[in-house]
Parts: sequence; C-alpha cells; structure tokens
Amino acid sequence: MDPKRMRVVIIGGGFGGLAAAEALRKADLDITLIDRTNHHLFQPLLYQVATAALSPGDIAWPLRTIFRSQSNIRVVMGEVQGIDRAARQVQVTDYPPVSYDALIVAVGSRHAHFSRPEWEDHAPGLKTLVDAVALRTRMLLAFEEAERRAATSTGTTPLTFVIVGGGPTGVELAGAMAEIGRNAMLPDFPFLQRQAVRILLVEAGSRVLSGFPPDLSANAQSALESMGVTVLLNQRVRDVGPKGVSLDGQFIETGHVIWAAGNRASPLLSSLNVPLDPAGRVFVRPDLTVPDDEWLFVIGDAAAVQDAQGHVLSGLAPLAMQEGRYVAAVIAARTMSGRRAAFRYVDRGTLATIGRAKAVAQFGSVHVSGLWAWLLWCTVHIFFLIGFRNRFRVVSEWIWYYVTFKPGARLID
Ligand SMILES: Cc1cc2nc3c(=O)[nH]c(=O)nc-3n(C[C@H](O)[C@H](O)[C@H](O)COP(=O)(O)OP(=O)(O)OC[C@H]3O[C@@H](n4cnc5c(N)ncnc54)[C@H](O)[C@@H]3O)c2cc1C
Repeated sequence: MDPKRMRVVIIGGGFGGLAAAEALRKADLDITLIDRTNHHLFQPLLYQVATAALSPGDIAWPLRTIFRSQSNIRVVMGEVQGIDRAARQVQVTDYPPVSYDALIVAVGSRHAHFSRPEWEDHAPGLKTLVDAVALRTRMLLAFEEAERRAATSTGTTPLTFVIVGGGPTGVELAGAMAEIGRNAMLPDFPFLQRQAVRILLVEAGSRVLSGFPPDLSANAQSALESMGVTVLLNQRVRDVGPKGVSLDGQFIETGHVIWAAGNRASPLLSSLNVPLDPAGRVFVRPDLTVPDDEWLFVIGDAAAVQDAQGHVLSGLAPLAMQEGRYVAAVIAARTMSGRRAAFRYVDRGTLATIGRAKAVAQFGSVHVSGLWAWLLWCTVHIFFLIGFRNRFRVVSEWIWYYVTFKPGARLID
C-alpha cells in the first residue's frame, strides 16, 4: 500500500460496509475491510435457511471473491476488539493494529432479550448463518422427536413452536414454519397429525408488522391465521425457561421458542466513547459522523439516524446501503465537514412476506397485499442477492418448492 494515500478502514462487510467499499472502488485510496466472518450475508433470507427452504451457501458470498478485482482493497477476517481514537487505530484479535485516516463503523446489531440474556439459551434469535443453521437443526430434531413420541404412544403429542415478536422477522418465520411444519413436512412424518403442530406468534403490541399501516397489519394477520398460525396480541413475555414461556396470564408449554423481538447494536460501539441511544446505537450527526471527529462515520444498524421529522429510522438493508454510498462519496471527494450536504434516506417502499403468494408492500400511500406483493418481494430479493450463481440457485429452489412443496435443505448436521 502507498504510505501517502488516504487509509480508509471499514469494520463490517454487511449491507452498509459492502456498499461503501464498492462505491469506493475507483477512489485513489487504500481500503481495509475487516469482518469477523469471511462472507457477506443476505440477512433478509435467513429465515429461509432456518426453515430449511434454502441452504446457507445460497444467501452468503465470500468477501474475498466479491472484491477479487478491486485493487484498492484488502480484506481481513478478524474480530475487532476496540477502536483507539487517539491513536487512530483499530484493534483486531491476533492481528497488528490497523491505522486509519477515515473509519467507517458498520458493525450492525444483534438480537437482544430485554436485558435478560439468560433467555437466549431457551429462545435463540436469528442474525447469523450459525444462528439459522442452529434453528434449522432444532426445528428438524423437534419433528423427529414428535414423530417418535407419536409413533410410540396412543394420544396426540403436541409440537408447539412459539415465535416472540410480530415484526417482519417474526411474521416471516411464523409463516414459513406454518407452511413447512403444517404442510410440506407432514407427508414424511406419517404419525404426526397436522393439528398437533402448533405455531404461535406472540406480540406485545396491538398488531403485527407495526411499522406498516394498520390495513396491511390486518391483512398480514389474517394471512397468518389462514395458514394455521395463532396470533397472540398484547401479550408480553414474562419469562422463558426450558419448559416453556410465560406470558401475561398464561404459560405455554414448549421447548421451542424463537426470539424475534428486538435488537441491540454491537457492544464495540461503546469503545467510541460517544452517546448511545437505548438500543446501543450511536447518535450520529447529519453527515453520519460522531460528534467530535469528521472522519469517523457510523452507518447501518449501528447508527441512530433521524429523519426530517426527528424520528430515528429503523434498521433496514436499503438504509444501510444508502448510508454506505453517501459516506463513500464524502470520503472519495475529501469533502470537509462544513461543506457536506446532510444524509437523506430515500424510502422506495417496504415489503414483508408471509408465505407463498402472501406478502404486504407499502409505497407511500399505495398499499398492496397478496400475490402481487409477494411477486414483488421475490423480484426485489433476487435482484439484491449477490452473484448470478446465488440468484439462479435461489430462484430454482423457490420454483422447486412452489411446485413440489418439498423444501430442499432439510438436513440435520
Ligand atoms: C432475520 C433478519 C431479516 C431481515 N429482513 C430484512 C428485510 O426483509 N428487509 C430489510 O431491509 N432489512 C431486513 N433486515 C435488516 C437488515 O439485514 C439490516 O438492517 C442490515 O443488515 C444492516 O446492515 P449493516 O451493514 O448495518 O449490518 P450487517 O449487515 O449486520 O453487517 C454487520 C457486519 O459487521 C460484522 N461485525 C460485527 N461486529 C464485528 C466486529 N466486532 N468485528 C468484525 N466484524 C464485525 C458482522 O460480521 C457483519 O458482517 C433483516 C435482518 C434480520 C436479522
């Protein structure tokens, strides 16, 4: 690397970090991209890995391959332990400190259990490929165990899955589990009865998909119910243990709880010594920098970014990508802080899927539900997946599953 060139360090090869690195491909500077994993992960399709519809390799792509032909970047696989702002260095486990002139922190978030970390053992969440494969294994083992019990006893033995959190991830998981658990898997489990498989979606608020308008929430709820999901609204989780989950006024016996009810930004952000919001995100300035450093940017799920009305924007892939491109443009042009236009998020619409031919979509005042929203959801997700190979494989898996109802990745590791 040229010692005179600007050194840009990007922590995190998720949606934000990747967009920044790609937008800097022609810039005359040296980039170091550090990620604890060796791949970029398409998180919006994680639930399909968790429910055995797709394989892990369908939704992840090695970072080194993505940047194979970009000459101004080197990729480091490593865990960033801290950021030494005084020395302008990033500390990475088993690696020499990495110096920077500009730093982009794009470390994302992780599911959080309302300050009850002990719940995680009994109610795992979904954020990484490891999480998804672990959930898939738990789900498939649960079916094997239920089949064994049904085959060796006379009464019906319920198989209950409880999904906590009625946001997009909870709704997607509940819908996919209902489709797979109550339809696709049953022909292979002759002793298991459909009514024995229960999928419950628990939401503390008064409707699912609360980020969408009420009519779309209602459509999503009736679509879920038509698939056999029991939706429990206004129910707070009081405790989760090995025997089940306690809600307001009821206990649900189950060993299969999945957590989709909240996120907390990376603990690494506390090493920046800047104010954080209650979800652990950094309060950034309008140019996405921290208060006292015009070349230290925080983007994506790690940043608390306000819209024109002063509301903090929810963590979404398009938001992280737009922030990454904005920061890349500032860095490439070496624009000083006083001359930077504020970051503005362009909302091109929001989508959530529920099941085959069932989805909701909002584009400003236009609300769409059902088949058309689902086709749109499929198109958008294929378009944003990295690499032709992944796109091709995902489309063929979806078509195969749509026609045969046989999910292709039902392997227990
Ligand atoms: C299950 C699920 C479904 C979702 N569905 C949708 C959807 O349908 N539509 C949508 O728009 N958004 C969706 N999202 C949200 C979206 O994925 C996030 O908003 C987006 O990934 C944020 O991008 P990011 O770059 O901030 O973080 P991420 O994409 O999470 O990337 C962070 C990266 O930082 C790395 N990292 C973290 N800490 C360290 C460290 N200490 N050292 C080194 N590397 C580190 C991680 O390995 C990771 O690669 C979903 C999220 C999940 C979990």
